[in-house]
Amino acid sequence: TTFAFDDRVSLVTGAGSGIGRAMAFAFAKAGARVVVCDIDRERAERTASEIGDAAIVAAADISDEASVDALVESAISAYGRIDVLCNNAGIMDTMALPADIPVALWERVLRVNLTGTFLVTHAVLPHMLREGRGAIVNTASEAGIRGGTAGAAYTASKHGVVGLTRSVAWAYAKDGIRCNAILPGPTLTGIASAESVGSFDPAGAARLAPVLALGERMAQPEQMADAALFLASDAASFVNGAIVPVDGGWSAA
Ligand code: NAD
Repeated sequence: TTFAFDDRVSLVTGAGSGIGRAMAFAFAKAGARVVVCDIDRERAERTASEIGDAAIVAAADISDEASVDALVESAISAYGRIDVLCNNAGIMDTMALPADIPVALWERVLRVNLTGTFLVTHAVLPHMLREGRGAIVNTASEAGIRGGTAGAAYTASKHGVVGLTRSVAWAYAKDGIRCNAILPGPTLTGIASAESVGSFDPAGAARLAPVLALGERMAQPEQMADAALFLASDAASFVNGAIVPVDGGWSAA
């Protein structure tokens, strides 16, 4: 029963595709009501309509403060509280190395992956504090603990997400709020085709290729969702500030 989410409310960002979509389905299946957030409204609507009555759509851009405030307001007005927050939305960089990455791309990747995760957390925390309960699961990456699995911007952004995870975990440990992160290895999703970042930087991709080849055993998004479900559940009631690789052993090498 500790894995059950009956009467709980889960907000999942980036739930229109890939890992977030699998998370939304997993929480709904476990009994939760789900707020399906994506910047792409059509994708969010597809996920929500496939889930059915237990889901609502909230199109929002996590990198925009006003949009995030509207997102959290719509979740609260629909369901009254937020028990689980999955900060999952994120974008790739082009694999560009530190000397080569355009500053505008650096700023965009940091803005979405790190500041976006912060903005949603910042807006949801007061509601969790009011309830005296909450579980946050951040989707970081192997690039949150290693330097050779992505470009400079993505790597720095995901290290930032790991730091934010630990900060929130420590700050609210006595308030009934837990915060953990998963570090997915390579997972079959839409992220590599992300329109927003363009094609790979050839120099960076070539230099990272040997590391990436070691992790070529691809995961399914559902395998990430299962780990997030555990961390968000009462089965993980004393797991707080954990940075959990979900990579088939890649980071153990
Ligand atoms: P995906 O591209 O399939 O899904 C990401 C979703 O997030 C998309 O639907 C997109 O529209 C949405 N999104 C993008 N920017 C947004 C914004 N500003 N506001 C709201 N929504 C936004 O990718 P995915 O692989 O499922 O990625 C999910 C998370 O997993 C990301 O944080 C990513 O960095 C992380 N991750 C993925 C892999 C992998 O191999 N796929 C590995 C490690 C970490």
